[in-house]
Amino acid sequence: MAVTESLAEEAHGPAGAVHEGILRRQSARESSARTYARALPIVPVRARGLTIEGADGRRYLDCLSGAGTLALGHNHPVVLAAVRQVLDSGAPLSVLDLATPVKDAFITELFRTLPPGLAGRARVQFCGPAGTDAVEAALKLVRTATGRSGVLAFTGAYHGMTAGALAVSGGAPEVQATRLPYPQDYRCPFGVGGPRGAELAARFTESLLDDPKSGVPLPAGMILEPVQGEGGVLPAPDDWLRRMRRLTADRAIPLIADEVQTGVGRTGAFWAVDHSGITPDVMVLSKAIGGSLPLAVIVYRDDLDVWQPGAHAGTFRGNQLAMAAGTATLAYVRENGLAERAGRLGTRLMEQLRSDIGGLACVGEVRGRGLMIGVELVEPEGTPGESAGEPTAGEGSSGMEPGAYDFDTAPARAPRPAAPGLAAAVQRECLRRGLIVELGGRHSSVVRLLPPLTISDEQTAAVLDRLTDAVAAVARAEERHGPRAGRGHDLDPGTSTD
Ligand code: PMP
Repeated sequence: MAVTESLAEEAHGPAGAVHEGILRRQSARESSARTYARALPIVPVRARGLTIEGADGRRYLDCLSGAGTLALGHNHPVVLAAVRQVLDSGAPLSVLDLATPVKDAFITELFRTLPPGLAGRARVQFCGPAGTDAVEAALKLVRTATGRSGVLAFTGAYHGMTAGALAVSGGAPEVQATRLPYPQDYRCPFGVGGPRGAELAARFTESLLDDPKSGVPLPAGMILEPVQGEGGVLPAPDDWLRRMRRLTADRAIPLIADEVQTGVGRTGAFWAVDHSGITPDVMVLSKAIGGSLPLAVIVYRDDLDVWQPGAHAGTFRGNQLAMAAGTATLAYVRENGLAERAGRLGTRLMEQLRSDIGGLACVGEVRGRGLMIGVELVEPEGTPGESAGEPTAGEGSSGMEPGAYDFDTAPARAPRPAAPGLAAAVQRECLRRGLIVELGGRHSSVVRLLPPLTISDEQTAAVLDRLTDAVAAVARAEERHGPRAGRGHDLDPGTSTD
């Protein structure tokens, strides 16, 4: 049927026909690289706070939040008022990098929130509108300032999809950055996790920098995420971050903190680096700073500001609506203590998840910081056809010299193989229960929650209910029918949404 005919038919048909028609046209016309749209076949038409309403009339609790962009949820009144005010004022909407009152207010509010060590000496560069643009700018800045070219980056990192940002991400197609181990408990590359695993990761980094034959010349910078988001929700220990700060400061290596996802209260502090008290040389900011509209900046110490006029330009660096929405968001989070609230709520949520589903054989780990939470799905113990998993630490079966490490600090359970099929089944089951969650991690086996910081206690309880119910349903199907059962099919039809 021609597109215009089917549109006319939909206009007079039930809501479900509009929904189906739009989805059908999307899959026929949009790129096969589309991502979220594949796992989440919904057509949002209205949204407020945590709730999205689809064209088919169904309502969902949105814990994807525009991939962590919506600190205040959808269409928060202070954001809408700020946008309306600019629209009604007759101000120009796009002004390159010219000075405007709207931009002036944004910079004032942004600088008010910065780590104290940076606030008094900060410079800001407005970049192209995406996080990846700001990453490119940060890399270019430190290369210009140091006259060096190499970059230190971490396993599992995600910094964006443009060439430079991709090169420092964990999935880089070729090696262009020196890759260092990022500390993690459950899948610690040294098999020990905890503070000991982080210590070993730091020692490796230190030896690489100090060994004249390491093959790693003094780099232009080190880039890291204080909590890896796309990498599977891995919070870096504060001590490790302080160690990275000392290591880089002692060797005059600029430290770039990518706070694109962790910023604006998400992890329980305004910026995630605030937990450890470190002051990065460069901060990469996007997502929530635009209050749901596209905006990206780098903020850096003034002595790095060696750029010539025009050294980093771009057309879309003057989005006045995004700046107004961003100012309103930053101020609202600051004035209402939403970062602290996110910290408290996140701790409660994780405790509850650990007690409700943490004991299931298919749940490897519940982890996170603040309202950046992940549940890693793993192959349940004894799944036929899978290897028995890595040996349990302390059993003497690690293949290492006995006594080489202190296994007392080892995690209680050895990691099971990642289970992306189960994670996808959980995501589907969540959607059927009216809950939108994201998948992440190395093998897309981590179910991720990034709810708005404004989520109410009642909504938090509803999210918990739906998620635990979905995980339990997948676990039951897996137990009952074996490995492949719950992964490709709907489990129990008829579950309701709100
Ligand atoms: N850095 C981090 C830490 C991110 O999480 C992301 C996006 N998920 C980016 C950079 C890239 O941002 P964008 O998608 O806006 O280019």
